[in-house]
Amino acid sequence: MARAEKQSFYDSAMEIFNHAADVIQLHPRVRLELEEPDFEHIFYVTVELRDRLVPIEDDEAGKYKDLPASDVKALDALEPLANGSYILHRRALLRADVQMRRGVIRLPGKGVFRLEEGRPRKFKAYRIQHNQVRGPYKGGIRYHREASLDLFKALAADMTWKTAIAEVPFGGAKGGIKIDPFNYSKEEIENLTLRYVYKFKNFMGPFLDIPAPDVGTNPEIMAYMMRQFTDGEREKHANRGVVTGKDVRIGGSEGRLKATGQGLVYCIEEWARDKGFQIRGSRAIVQGFGNVGSATAEILAAMGAKIVAVNDVNGTVVNEQGLDVPALIAHVHQNPANLRRTVAGFSGGTAFSKSDFWEVEADLCIPAALGDEIDGDVAERLKVRLVAEGANGPTTRDADRILQKRKIDVIPDIIGNAGGVTVSYYEWLQNQRLEHWTEAEVNQRLERAIKKNYSIIRDVARNRPQRTPLYDSRPYCVGKEVDVRTAAMALALRRVEAHYLIEGFSQ
Ligand code: NAD
Repeated sequence: MARAEKQSFYDSAMEIFNHAADVIQLHPRVRLELEEPDFEHIFYVTVELRDRLVPIEDDEAGKYKDLPASDVKALDALEPLANGSYILHRRALLRADVQMRRGVIRLPGKGVFRLEEGRPRKFKAYRIQHNQVRGPYKGGIRYHREASLDLFKALAADMTWKTAIAEVPFGGAKGGIKIDPFNYSKEEIENLTLRYVYKFKNFMGPFLDIPAPDVGTNPEIMAYMMRQFTDGEREKHANRGVVTGKDVRIGGSEGRLKATGQGLVYCIEEWARDKGFQIRGSRAIVQGFGNVGSATAEILAAMGAKIVAVNDVNGTVVNEQGLDVPALIAHVHQNPANLRRTVAGFSGGTAFSKSDFWEVEADLCIPAALGDEIDGDVAERLKVRLVAEGANGPTTRDADRILQKRKIDVIPDIIGNAGGVTVSYYEWLQNQRLEHWTEAEVNQRLERAIKKNYSIIRDVARNRPQRTPLYDSRPYCVGKEVDVRTAAMALALRRVEAHYLIEGFSQ
């Protein structure tokens, strides 16, 4: 009997592409061009790891009961990692009184550790460049232990659709390194990032491929990338646009840090206006409390919504009265002792299981973590009116059908989280023009762009072609009602297709 093949993440992500392509009768050659990425770069980066102190198992630790504790004066030279190890910086040995037996050392108040000598290590790296017909490849860099070609292919294609929907003149790409960044030192991550750019340099540039932060990366990592790319270049300043999501002090844009969350909230506002729904006083559950989740929660809370539950990879906190979001942000992001940057342990809420999290009664559900988190089972249990996708691909196809059946509305990721790449484009523009816009200016443009394209998608879904003073949805409607995810994809494909049809194919 033939074994049923498990559908890959990419195949399942492309289901919606294929469906929308059928619905709009996408030009067959354009379809072939978009079905697979332009380039799949897979390479390795090596890095010299530092000496570390690795905790030893309890039963083995018993053998060292009589080992006297070492006296380390410069405790700040032991850099803690999320897996319980410490990076041993040489400075830790200054004036220290070290007692070591067979490479094992006891640290007062910390436990018993084996000294692991630094050594080189290699990591698998990726950059998938999906399409550039509308402009330079554009997309995030992810540092995560679950990285694969299949995943990056799906995320790179998503960027092509997203840049088209947001009307920014970029294409789609995605990449990163298969690593759990929380288990490596700041310096190791810096060196790894420099190495990534060293190897990939010929394929990136402000008019070629422009990375940005994604899961596990941040403005600091973007600064390393920019430094490595521009090092020794005379045109350094013109090249600042090689990455976006930079710190505002070195050419980043005001508003970029919160842009993805802000864009999602603009979509929710449009949805609420349409439904006659009040955000003030509404209840929201948020999954993921990194860049996107925390910004969305902060903006919604400032608008008067109650964030009643937050889940991340290490825990869940719930508060029926609404969590104190600024305090939660301080607990997760401004507390150096919180090595995994998790909501777990927050004193302003009760701990909950992940499974129960999905059943918390609320109006809004904001998935802002990883892909495939809302599967069929979760979709059956959700007690919300709207799923507003901050994450990329958080809802499985199965779940999509169930949400539709249960009449739970969805704001699809390719419009929901397009705020990030939209402000990335503003950052790139400011870099090209050597300008610096205010946050109000950035948000004004972002709001206009997101609400306009969200409205077009809604018209396509309802088959209501119209021209208003703000937008024209007539070229995109498909002659019948379609679900909102198909509508968003139809808009993206029409805009990408136009380039091939008008400019032609370069043989
Ligand atoms: P981040 O690394 O800042 O945060 C990720 C969050 O997800 C963390 O709170 C983490 O604990 C949580 N998480 C990870 N695995 C989980 C799991 N299995 N269950 C529950 N929680 C889990 O990343 P980010 O930049 O906020 O990105 C979040 C999502 O938004 C990703 O899907 C990303 O692709 C997408 N996105 C990000 C941006 C951006 O500008 N950063 C733009 C568009 C889309």
